[in-house]
Amino acid sequence: MLRIYDTRARQVEQIAAGRALRMYTCGPTVYRYAHVGNLRTYLLSDLIRRVLERRRVRVVVCQNITDVGHLAEDPEEIGGEGEDKVLAQARAEGRSVSELARFYEDAFRSDTTALNLRPPEHTPRATETIDLMVELIAKLIEKGHAYTVPDGSVFFDVRTFPSYGEISGNRLDALKPAHRIEGVDPRKRFHADWALWKPAEGELTWDTPWGRGFPGWHVECSAMSLRFLGSRFELHTGGMDLRFPHHEDERAQSDSVAGHEVVRHWVHGEHLLFDGRKMAKSTGNVVLLSDVVAAGLDPLAVRMAFLEHRYRQQLNLTWDTLRAADRTVRRWRARVAEWSESPSAPMAAHYVERVETAFDDDLDLPSALRVLRELERDESVAPGAKLESFLHLDQVLGLDLSTEIGKSPTLPPGAGQLLESRARAREAGDWETADQLRDELAELGVRVSDTPEGQSWS
Ligand code: AMP
Ligand code: ZN
Repeated sequence: MLRIYDTRARQVEQIAAGRALRMYTCGPTVYRYAHVGNLRTYLLSDLIRRVLERRRVRVVVCQNITDVGHLAEDPEEIGGEGEDKVLAQARAEGRSVSELARFYEDAFRSDTTALNLRPPEHTPRATETIDLMVELIAKLIEKGHAYTVPDGSVFFDVRTFPSYGEISGNRLDALKPAHRIEGVDPRKRFHADWALWKPAEGELTWDTPWGRGFPGWHVECSAMSLRFLGSRFELHTGGMDLRFPHHEDERAQSDSVAGHEVVRHWVHGEHLLFDGRKMAKSTGNVVLLSDVVAAGLDPLAVRMAFLEHRYRQQLNLTWDTLRAADRTVRRWRARVAEWSESPSAPMAAHYVERVETAFDDDLDLPSALRVLRELERDESVAPGAKLESFLHLDQVLGLDLSTEIGKSPTLPPGAGQLLESRARAREAGDWETADQLRDELAELGVRVSDTPEGQSWS
């Protein structure tokens, strides 16, 4: 069974799943296209799901759509500091708030589909679940974990939750007040208290018993996870940057209302870097899935490039890495199609077992891929057995390895030229160049053989 690194326990732990497992994944804020860094984090949940489903565990995922309440924190970003990201972007694009949010939500769905990320069972939108948040906030006030202030704000009273900080290690006694020019907010009882509800008028605001306004971002995930997954669930995932304050605040809210630990395991994915820096809009090094496709690469080359690195490692993506991943995916599809022409044979059990052990070992996909490369090269394994093994394991890899089966082969881009150069090298008796070109063609998934009539390829 799957073992995975639990951020709060600070160790790899066995996932205790019976026949069903519930997982919450913090979803996108729909005011812009998701970049491939965001997608790496969503791939983490997809891999967990696929590895468990292989063990015939029913996995139920809830992933929220944040279309209100996520305030910009970065002065460089749209909305500057403190404005709702969706509102600020809608104004900048001259669109209505709902049109903008639906547009980016659809774009997100096409990106995740192109990456073969299985759709979550529940995808609640924040604007459509305000009543759940209001209900949750009311319960927190009633239980003495939250307080209202005269301007209509509601704050979480963090000192009523002594185990605050267990996920990230940011314990309350060590947390320093933010050194902002305005100093500590006088409305708060304690500097680390955060707003559950913020007073406002106009678009994206709702009436509540404590006044008109909108919810804080953290309260959204508590309300949705408790509603759609129940008061105890096994896994919660997100990117590293969400550990604090987002997940600490969410844990405090959910546990305070439930009266016990709600989430069994917190799992976080490391960041994707590009050009050596965290991929982020504010850094200006964003790559979208559409950029990858525009460069002539298969979108699943991104998935392959991610699988080559463990989710807990930072990954510095480059265009070279993506091109190499693209070549591997195309080569494997061509090989699978070629093997499919041989009689089917039982899977290469020893290899499959090693791959599956790697999957279970804290999602050690890099080791799994190494074993697959070994299997690809092993001449002693029948082609039909390679076929069955690759297709079986593709249920987790999600690389669409069967797509070339039954198609008449076409040469990948660039291969035609290499074949021509090789034919000329052979005519000239330059065997060294001919061999080198054969290797280059093999990298593209084209196998050359020499016959008395000249070279042929498959
Ligand atoms: P956002 O839409 O900004 O709320 O981010 C969506 C998800 O992507 C969150 O789980 C973030 O932690 C994650 N994320 C943001 N930037 C990166 C990055 N460069 N690499 C990996 N994950 C990221
Ligand atoms: Zn969240």
